[in-house]
Amino acid sequence: MLRKRMQTRMLVALFMVLTFATAPLSALSQKTSPVAPSRAQAEAVVKEAYEKFKSDTGGKNADYIPYLAQVDSKLFGIAIVTTDNQVLTMGDIKYSFSIQSISKVFSQAMEELGADKVFEKVGNEPTGRAFNSVFAVADMPTHTGNPYVNAGAISTVSLISAKTADEKWNKILDFYSRVAGEKLVLIDEVYKSEAATNTGNKALSMLLAKYDRIYADPFESVDVYTKQCSVGVNVAQLARMGATLANNGKNPATGEQVIKPENVPHILSTMVMAGLYDGSGGWAWRVGLPAKSGVGGGIVAVVPGKGAIAVFAPPLDEAGNSVKAQKVIEYVANKLDFNLFSPRSVGLKASE
Ligand code: GLN
Repeated sequence: MLRKRMQTRMLVALFMVLTFATAPLSALSQKTSPVAPSRAQAEAVVKEAYEKFKSDTGGKNADYIPYLAQVDSKLFGIAIVTTDNQVLTMGDIKYSFSIQSISKVFSQAMEELGADKVFEKVGNEPTGRAFNSVFAVADMPTHTGNPYVNAGAISTVSLISAKTADEKWNKILDFYSRVAGEKLVLIDEVYKSEAATNTGNKALSMLLAKYDRIYADPFESVDVYTKQCSVGVNVAQLARMGATLANNGKNPATGEQVIKPENVPHILSTMVMAGLYDGSGGWAWRVGLPAKSGVGGGIVAVVPGKGAIAVFAPPLDEAGNSVKAQKVIEYVANKLDFNLFSPRSVGLKASE
């Protein structure tokens, strides 16, 4: 009798162990996030945001690159791409704009050399200055600051191995195309417009040379960097690039592992720290998502495990971040509980 009871107890214990051991595993192995919003919910919120902000007239196009000053300020598009490749779009979604600084996030150097090497050669501290600041290069112990300010980005480009500048550029373009899951091309007018006026970036590269923080010919590095900033993307392509990060570096459309999974947390944490330059602190405070802006008017925000939202609207604030894009992403992220610093983002409601 006693033996029988012991046996039953052991069976119950075994059952409990198995249940606890397997339950979290099956939850973790879900293909898409168990707390992602439904498509209908996301659609409704994107529509609300579009209507709410479409007439917003805040900000001003970048004009230090002449081409950008002429882009229609009213252009406005929103796209969400999820880690299971659902696509949701609204507004001007066909227009191809220059990726600009968002290109800095997708680093061929990091793929080739690994995160530790990039950290050693470029560093990862906020500059607290404008993205093109000469003072930051002179003042900071690393001089390069981080890979998302111009000096750090030019230095990062210089790390890519290649025999010629053309080979380097082709590697970058091929990498971006695989991250987007579509063939991307250079917007030649943007490149020419910026190449004719980028004396500031050339000055940064010479200063980096003085401090031994650039690892190839300085002007050649600026030229390749200028090309990478002039790659054209539409808002859905940009959202898919973000979704590739959200999906551990695997493109959700093509299934290709484009970015090494171990690099993704480094990329996303740098986005939180410096993705919106000296607007990054306010952004983290309000939105709590890794994001990256470009002076072309794009911003992409990544929601790890769920997807990415990209918005394009050219007028910028003082720090160089699209005004409308910030408002839309803040609105959507808030309504859909995307803020990573909120336990609600993993499904924990205040009442539980
Ligand atoms: N190509 C631009 C520059 O070098 C990129 C800046 C940006 O998007 N913030 O100034």
